[in-house]
Amino acid sequence: MLSVADNVPYKSLNTMGIEGYARRYAEWEEPSDLYTLSEPEINCLQPVIQIGEGSNLLFPDGRLDATLLVSRYRDTEVLEHDSTHITFRVGAGLRLDDFIDKTAAIGLWGLENLSHIPGTVGAAAVQNVGAYGVEFADCLESVKCFDLEDQRFTTFAASELKYGYRDSAFKHAPLHRRMIITDVTLRLSVDAKPHLDYGNLRSRLEGIPLTPMAVRDAIISIRRTKLPEITEAGSAGSFFKNPVVSADLLPAIREKAAAAGIDTTDMPVYHLADAPGSVKLSAAWLIDRGGLKGASCGSAGTWPTQPLVIVNLDGRATAADVAGLAGYIVAEVDRKFGVRLTPEVEYL
Ligand SMILES: Cc1cc2nc3c(=O)[nH]c(=O)nc-3n(C[C@H](O)[C@H](O)[C@H](O)COP(=O)(O)OP(=O)(O)OC[C@H]3O[C@@H](n4cnc5c(N)ncnc54)[C@H](O)[C@@H]3O)c2cc1C
Repeated sequence: MLSVADNVPYKSLNTMGIEGYARRYAEWEEPSDLYTLSEPEINCLQPVIQIGEGSNLLFPDGRLDATLLVSRYRDTEVLEHDSTHITFRVGAGLRLDDFIDKTAAIGLWGLENLSHIPGTVGAAAVQNVGAYGVEFADCLESVKCFDLEDQRFTTFAASELKYGYRDSAFKHAPLHRRMIITDVTLRLSVDAKPHLDYGNLRSRLEGIPLTPMAVRDAIISIRRTKLPEITEAGSAGSFFKNPVVSADLLPAIREKAAAAGIDTTDMPVYHLADAPGSVKLSAAWLIDRGGLKGASCGSAGTWPTQPLVIVNLDGRATAADVAGLAGYIVAEVDRKFGVRLTPEVEYL
């Protein structure tokens, strides 16, 4: 059944805690409910914006003239089971971390490094969430969607969805805002396939029998030391993507930083196997060395142990505060390094 309401407050529907009202709000329980969105009596206001937990979104201050769509569909079933893998179909409304908790507990490998990332399984297929050397797309087989334009269900193989660093075809035309993801198919491994070469993960696990749950526990404890819990300070996680630039630009970046009095000898530079000639820089390092640790605008500020995260300092931050701080950080990093940061967070 589709439940519809008008003028619904969204402070609790976004982890940044921005206050405002959605002109229309609709919740669906079953994929077939999505057919009813087009019925005239629903009077569905355009655009229709499907959200998960609102953990990667910046809502506007005041009012959103749209239909905000939320999924309560969390059905999970085993599709295939052989000696090496188990394949699951998972409803888009299930929290990714709940799924990881259950599958790690029965010894399945694949998603454990993504433990403790907020948000739903449906959104993870849009965002290609990633952490500690693993991306969601690594375990993804296919994604089933309701096409709002053609009013029918369609299934995409993961290989058709152009997955990249925090990117997928769902973020771009013609699929953006047109596809409501209803189910994802994930293939997890029975055999141990740990990814431990990231940060201090391997040393954390020394002397502990290696299981998906042990890796999950280690990841959760590392994340707790670096990132704010949503109950502690509202945020949308990393606000900016790590910039990918042409390797030819590195001398100019170092020169510009030197002119601003910044030493770049320890600047992290990651070479990309899939994009020779390009390098990935650390947005957190650029923000930190750009002197922006502790920067604030109104009630929005950077998080002390991870300046890449913009937080709602006292629960009263407005979208204008957050966007103002983000704009200031972009301008300062550009001025000091000649590198343009782009937001990972989506502005609604
Ligand atoms: C404290 C914190 C830590 C974080 N750490 C990480 C991290 O380590 N790695 C990482 O990658 N991200 C991280 N994030 C960002 C965030 O958790 C992810 O981007 C997550 O996938 C967002 O899920 P959500 O359900 O909240 O989606 P939302 O933010 O609600 O939506 C994100 C996008 O997906 C679309 N969408 C959502 N559901 C559907 C659907 N069913 N069909 C079609 N479109 C849909 C929305 O329209 C929007 O475009 C973090 C966020 C926070 C607050």
